[in-house]
Amino acid sequence: MSDPTKQTHRDSKKNPSLNELIRQMTLDEKIAQLVQLAVPFYEGAEGDGLITGPMASLGITEETVHNSGSVLGMAGAAETINVQRTHLENNRLGIPLLMMADIVHGFKTIFPVPLAIGCSWDPELAEKSAEIAAKEASVSGVHVTYAPMVDLVRDPRWGRVVESTGEDPYLNSVFARAFVRGFQGTDLANDTDRVAACVKHFAAYGAAEAGRDYNTVDLSERQMHEFYLPAYKAALDEGCEMVMTAFNTVDGVPATGNSKLMRKLLREEWGFDGILISDWGAVKELIAHGIAADEKEAALKAIKAGVDIEMMTSCYVKNLSELIENKEVNESLIDEAVMRILTLKQKLGLFENPYRAADPEREREIVFCDEHRTSARELAVKSCVLLKNEGVLPLNGNSDRKIALIGPFARSGDVLGPWSWTGSKEDAIKLDDGMRKKLSGSSELLVADGCGIETTTMEQWQEALASAQSADTIVLALGEHSDMSGEAGCRADIRLPEVQLELIRKIKSLGKPVVVVLFNGRPLDLHGVYDEADAILEAWYPGSEAGDAVADLLFGDANPSGRLTMSFPYSVGQVPVYYNAYNTGRPQGAPDAQVRYVSQYLDIPNEPFLPFGFGLSYSSFEYEGAKLSSDVITMEESIKVSVTITNKGNLAGEETVQLYVRDITGEVVRPVKELKDFRKVALQPGESREIEFTLDEKQLRYYHSDLSHDSDAGAFVAFVGPNSKTNAELPFKLVK
Ligand code: BGC
Repeated sequence: MSDPTKQTHRDSKKNPSLNELIRQMTLDEKIAQLVQLAVPFYEGAEGDGLITGPMASLGITEETVHNSGSVLGMAGAAETINVQRTHLENNRLGIPLLMMADIVHGFKTIFPVPLAIGCSWDPELAEKSAEIAAKEASVSGVHVTYAPMVDLVRDPRWGRVVESTGEDPYLNSVFARAFVRGFQGTDLANDTDRVAACVKHFAAYGAAEAGRDYNTVDLSERQMHEFYLPAYKAALDEGCEMVMTAFNTVDGVPATGNSKLMRKLLREEWGFDGILISDWGAVKELIAHGIAADEKEAALKAIKAGVDIEMMTSCYVKNLSELIENKEVNESLIDEAVMRILTLKQKLGLFENPYRAADPEREREIVFCDEHRTSARELAVKSCVLLKNEGVLPLNGNSDRKIALIGPFARSGDVLGPWSWTGSKEDAIKLDDGMRKKLSGSSELLVADGCGIETTTMEQWQEALASAQSADTIVLALGEHSDMSGEAGCRADIRLPEVQLELIRKIKSLGKPVVVVLFNGRPLDLHGVYDEADAILEAWYPGSEAGDAVADLLFGDANPSGRLTMSFPYSVGQVPVYYNAYNTGRPQGAPDAQVRYVSQYLDIPNEPFLPFGFGLSYSSFEYEGAKLSSDVITMEESIKVSVTITNKGNLAGEETVQLYVRDITGEVVRPVKELKDFRKVALQPGESREIEFTLDEKQLRYYHSDLSHDSDAGAFVAFVGPNSKTNAELPFKLVK
């Protein structure tokens, strides 16, 4: 049998004029293009269950499946080729399927979770990670990835903070662009190692009330524009091909049926003409939300809002033709949606080669290759954040001592984090293996679980205590199971599970140095951890190379350089807490203040426990001589903000120099600080470097009450420092 991937598609359908193709399509064929179903519907897929099982309840006919436009969640060259071939055999006009999947932070080579990638403050490495993910996914038959997720996040109870790069609109925008560039490259049509990106979840999904997934979002329009929308816009400015709707409401109307958000803002104002896809089942959810009485009305609202593809429900396929017949929907809306879908197929070259880069042989060579794993290790090293170090780190592997590695993550493969379904936990480097490689002489690593994530047994305690008793230093590998974050992974209590806190207490009572390594998907409440540990390394979920990357940092082969992109709260009662907040009309109080009517908690400070931008290093960096080139910015003239950084430590290290600005008096209240720029600087011991930022009028613009984006003349303050707590004020004025 000839190799289907090498065949040119049937001549009559080769590179058709899309308008002509649409003319040839029946209404049912067009509507089927708007349907997206998952793998079990497709003949030729592994575990093929064509319209069987629970999926049958969608009421989808075999004919719709044969005419459908895209499929969800399929990967693997052999399987995708098989499904595409069968599909084309059954599709009258030979229109190929778009294969879409969630390739979020790696395909087989799993990179750190996005929240961790954000903490690298390294958009170039982020781009590289997306490029590698795209290459592995594309050779495995994927055409579109449902990424990047760029929802701004402020509430660590929400499980999906793990998928975001954090709480800052500027930093999130920088990463949004980097991810899109990495996934799509600059020539999607010819560069078949790339995939189309789909930015999600439009809009403001990260602002779910009380941090509960899918919950109501109700923000002022100005808040949306100031904080929540910039990163989606940045992704689109970078050429992102697709947008996914959010599950939540926006100003009372679920995003998926929200014409103001989709037709007016996304399409008309922003000029987006790519595909808009609903999130999973979100069209039908319009009924449960209470803005549609039935599936017909749900279909009507979604198509009117501009949703082109309905993911995983059947409101469109069951109702659109009747809605058109009754003149409630104009067929031109369907044609527009079909045109967008066919346009992406054409852009990806699927009419010429419906298999694009899918190739089982090359897949075996490329996925999880050494080169990709080296990049994953590098990014993992850069993503971990050192939260505390009372002189115990780095460890010395040649000092003939015993190190006890204890905890549920000591030898666990659960280090990939959510959205790593294509990766392998078995193949991930476990922490004990990574650490063992660092030992020499008679140094020894004793390994014990101590407990599971949430439970323990008497034997586990005893084994852990015995190891700890005979060790010189103890490393506790603790955290959350990866299901405790991600979609529907919300927690009202964001401390470590009690059994792990108990383990810390027991081990601490031995009086030996204790290092805690955390594997988790959100900022935690560190009660019961911070004071007890001598050092804390926040590793998040570092991905396939976890054990080696964390060991590099623990033993000083790499110097920690990650910086938090989401504040760590004192306790859950402080949430949401974020650095770029507004002042109140009252003074900021403190728990021990003797005054009452100020803006304060009686029991905890107002400030987060660990602020945005914070992270330690094995070196210390001194900031000196921060200055402005002038104290006036005009419409034409920018100023320079400069500072000299010196590495005062004994190890080479990287500092992330951060530039913040505060607008003292605006037309509306302004955040106490806003990140405007940052620079990573690598310094040898004793080395100094002057860092210079340019600040201009455009960077001082913000959304006013009437949503105009403009700056206000008047007084400002710049701050340059190692994190958002920096207080060295550099006053200047904007003169207009
Ligand atoms: C998630 C999306 C995801 C989609 C497809 C949904 O439940 O919210 O982020 O892309 O499923 O897997």
